[in-house]
Amino acid sequence: MHRCGYCMPCPAGVNIPGNFDAYNYAHLFDDLAGARFRYSVFFTEEQRAGHCAACGECLEKCPQKIEIRDWMRR
Ligand code: SF4
Repeated sequence: MHRCGYCMPCPAGVNIPGNFDAYNYAHLFDDLAGARFRYSVFFTEEQRAGHCAACGECLEKCPQKIEIRDWMRR
């Protein structure tokens, strides 16, 4: 899947595109358990969406103006 990555790096260490991948995987394949498993295995604590400090730096960098902070909470 194509990932642009303009939002990176995140000062808090969040793997923003990776979190979107996990979210998309869960919904596209209707496999929340599988997505959670991959998340627990492949993401460090810092890379997880819950580590987002809501600083807003990524919002300024996103050419598509995606509300990344809100998505990280989801
Ligand atoms: S809003 Fe969250 S995800 Fe975006 S740069 Fe700040 S800490 Fe990282």
